[in-house]
Amino acid sequence: MVFTTTVTDSDEQLHNTFASRYVRTPVPRFKMPEKSMPKEAAYQVINDELMLDGNPRLNLASFVTTWMEPECDKLIMDSINKNYVDMDEYPVTTELQNRCVNMIAHLFHAPVGESETAVGVGTVGSSEAIMLAGLAFKRKWQNKRKAAGKPYDKPNIVTGANVQVCWEKFARYFEVELKEVKLKEGYYVMDPAKAVEMVDENTICVAAILGSTLTGEFEDVKLLNQLLEQKNKETGWGTPIHVDAASGGFIAPFLWPDLEWDFRLPLVKSINVSGHKYGLVYAGVGWVVWRTKEELPEELIFHINYLGTDQPTFTLNFSKGSSQIIAQYYQLLRLGFEGYKRIVENCTENARVLKEGIERTGRFEIISKDVGVPLVAFSLKDSSKYTVFDISESLRRFGWIVPAYTMPANAEHVAVLRVVIREDFSRSLAERLVSHIEQVLQEVDARHGHVSTDASYISPAVEENNHQGKKTGAEKREEEITKYWRRLANGKRTGVC
Ligand SMILES: *Cc1c(COP(=O)(O)O)cnc(C)c1O
Repeated sequence: MVFTTTVTDSDEQLHNTFASRYVRTPVPRFKMPEKSMPKEAAYQVINDELMLDGNPRLNLASFVTTWMEPECDKLIMDSINKNYVDMDEYPVTTELQNRCVNMIAHLFHAPVGESETAVGVGTVGSSEAIMLAGLAFKRKWQNKRKAAGKPYDKPNIVTGANVQVCWEKFARYFEVELKEVKLKEGYYVMDPAKAVEMVDENTICVAAILGSTLTGEFEDVKLLNQLLEQKNKETGWGTPIHVDAASGGFIAPFLWPDLEWDFRLPLVKSINVSGHKYGLVYAGVGWVVWRTKEELPEELIFHINYLGTDQPTFTLNFSKGSSQIIAQYYQLLRLGFEGYKRIVENCTENARVLKEGIERTGRFEIISKDVGVPLVAFSLKDSSKYTVFDISESLRRFGWIVPAYTMPANAEHVAVLRVVIREDFSRSLAERLVSHIEQVLQEVDARHGHVSTDASYISPAVEENNHQGKKTGAEKREEEITKYWRRLANGKRTGVC
């Protein structure tokens, strides 16, 4: 008989959560525990550790949705156990994805006939969408080169140096050279003329961004299309355009419907958009749509015989959740054009309130544009005494997460703060943030003699070193692992997504 464990277990049942041994002993970090623990204890231990994460609603670093309606939360929970890939078993879910693809393709003016369905797919986010679009361009270009008896081993892609890190990932993972148009002070997006100059016979596409991650500014896709058409006429290369509309794809159609950036321009062959940004769904959904089915080489589509039916798929992974697709359909259906328009109008209005408040301090220069993704990017006029990094640090105390970063080549000397305005960032929060920025400015002014430049900015690292001595080996090791992954995830740019 094993009396002792039985007694201990039932003993544990009697204890108040915070009196149980599970909250008194350190939790395992690297090896799975030998024994089970009660579900209440596991919940409490994990929940408590997670309290130390930032508050997503105050995370102004990210475009990704942090609030949805309770009705949609319910739909998400109801479908959390559905594997999206089981299309045969969940045909309705598959049908909802197809409706989303069609709605988005029409929003972007894809030339789809009344009885035709649009060509596109739901992905985990814009990154997967961009990998797929990039692969389609690469394969099309290779096929064309092969048919012409020309070498096809040195594909390249032309973008601005302001591209999101996923383009660098695409380039490295799929062995395509990334040719970046450099920026300059005061001009932080891809210059279409320079981009077209860089195009050569090995260019698989020019990628333009609708809503630069760094400043929210829209690139001039119309001018790019025009210049590239001229070049294509002279060279016969037929270089196409992809638009990375991760953040702007659900902004421009509602606020500036006459702005031509999408399939209205003949060279735009594919577009990606993040459903989890201004598509207003929680993290885990993106979309890529192609102009026509001719733009998507057939050999990239896998036809799997799944339980007796033919399932064409074009994704990088196999299984994934269905909830995000269902949530996207909920938003499109529930809000309609009218609802999206109202929400992005509110965001733009709140961005204006914030921008004016920041301008009133007299200390900052606004880098973001009024036509663009609703965000405010601003730099210090004078950073001889303190920098935007110090301001970002100080705002953290109020709970605000406002990232600071330097611009890419050749504007590295410009450091900015960026506040993304999402649906759930209300007018009163905007006003509060302004008053906290004012307070922080007063504090840093008062701390006279404190000098730090971008290059010498080391305060968090120094602080961390001071604490290192008190940390256990396991804590240090865990931190190292977290740091390593964070570096990998962020690539060369820190804290913005
Ligand atoms: C966010 C973003 C991405 C990456 O999108 P995910 O949906 O996070 O994978 C790519 N490009 C741009 C311009 C972005 O803003």
